[in-house]
Amino acid sequence: MKHVITLLGATGSIGDSTLDVIARHPDRFAVGAVAANCNHAKMLDLCRRFRPQVAALADRDAARALARGIAAEGLPTRVLAGEEGLAEAASLEGVDTVLAAIVGGVGLPATLAAARCGKRILLANKEAMVIGGRLFIDAVAKGGATLLPIDSEHNAIFQCLPPTYARCPEDAGVRRILLTASGGPFHPHPEVDFDTVTPREACAHPNWTMGRKISVDSATMMNKGLEVIEARWLFNVEPSQIEIVVHRQSVVHSLVEYVDGSVLAQMSNPDMRTPIAQALGAPERLASGAAPLDLARLATLTFEAPDRQRFPCIDLAYDALAADPAAPIALNAANEVAVDAFLNGHARFSDIPRTCEGVLERRTLTHVASLDDALAADAEARRLARESLRLDER
Ligand code: NDP
Repeated sequence: MKHVITLLGATGSIGDSTLDVIARHPDRFAVGAVAANCNHAKMLDLCRRFRPQVAALADRDAARALARGIAAEGLPTRVLAGEEGLAEAASLEGVDTVLAAIVGGVGLPATLAAARCGKRILLANKEAMVIGGRLFIDAVAKGGATLLPIDSEHNAIFQCLPPTYARCPEDAGVRRILLTASGGPFHPHPEVDFDTVTPREACAHPNWTMGRKISVDSATMMNKGLEVIEARWLFNVEPSQIEIVVHRQSVVHSLVEYVDGSVLAQMSNPDMRTPIAQALGAPERLASGAAPLDLARLATLTFEAPDRQRFPCIDLAYDALAADPAAPIALNAANEVAVDAFLNGHARFSDIPRTCEGVLERRTLTHVASLDDALAADAEARRLARESLRLDER
């Protein structure tokens, strides 16, 4: 039977890679719904190519433009709008798999909707996991959903754990998780002045082609901090069991160390189609289109400790995990505001960790027992970050 998929974030970089894999296996997969924010032109093109039942855009004007295009071409797709339209696309009857690849915390409600109706969730949207934390994991369990990681590091860990792993590292003999990090464009260049870095320089990742937000996160190494938080919840490991290792080549995507001293690694070329195909096909293996790994040509794989002074976002993430349940939410929210300001020319690269640190110090909300609490902590941190960067005075 074919898997029917909702693709949240269909117009982005993960969306492109996913549709490439899906198009290679028309006998196995059909696109049931596509969702994004405002890119109606690309969405119309996806509707032509994949003929989904539903297309949802968060931006209502863009949704109207898409509906006009769909009507003009007589396509069979129903257009939905707004946050509720995204949630409907994620919980559509007949869809069994939801690939969550919206960028930012804004992707949480639709991903939670998929969890509550028991879908198989392929998760790229790490910010949703960081904000949702334990609440998200509980919603997955309660809704009878399945969670498979797409983020290359977490997908690598998933592949290195036993297939029977039941969220208990002790039972599985797991001692540590080693999260690899490329270090981004600036790690090997101590001479770079973080006050003058431009968005183009920050987005020039040495190994991966990704969306702009995650590219900046890689450059500050906040991406690795968010991934530590993501790993903590996905695999139920203590933060002290997660170590970051800088591995410039992005070939070893992460490792799991067992109590007997064995260390298992997953290796592949840096191409997101590999983890996406792994999760789409699991437990079977599917061709992804990624080039085979040529180890002799690579010759050298290097590993080193991260520079935690130059990249303070790593410690901010560990500190947030140790503080209280609202701290990772505040960290993520402050980072989203600061990265957006940097990409729009309203903040310096060096303002990103500074803003996050200031928000963590000034916030007042620390209690998270419900989604409303989580959203309140998120809103407070966004307000504090905007104040700190004086964004409303512009
Ligand atoms: P992109 O910037 O390329 O794409 C973002 C997607 O999210 C677009 O489809 C965009 O729609 C959509 N979107 C943005 N805002 C909203 C909104 N308010 N409502 C609905 N949809 C919205 O990002 P990436 O594909 O690079 O990353 C997506 C997620 O995957 C991120 O969380 C990232 O951390 C994670 N990830 C990405 C990797 C990569 O290699 N790219 C690797 C591992 C994880 P529109 O085009 O209409 O604006």
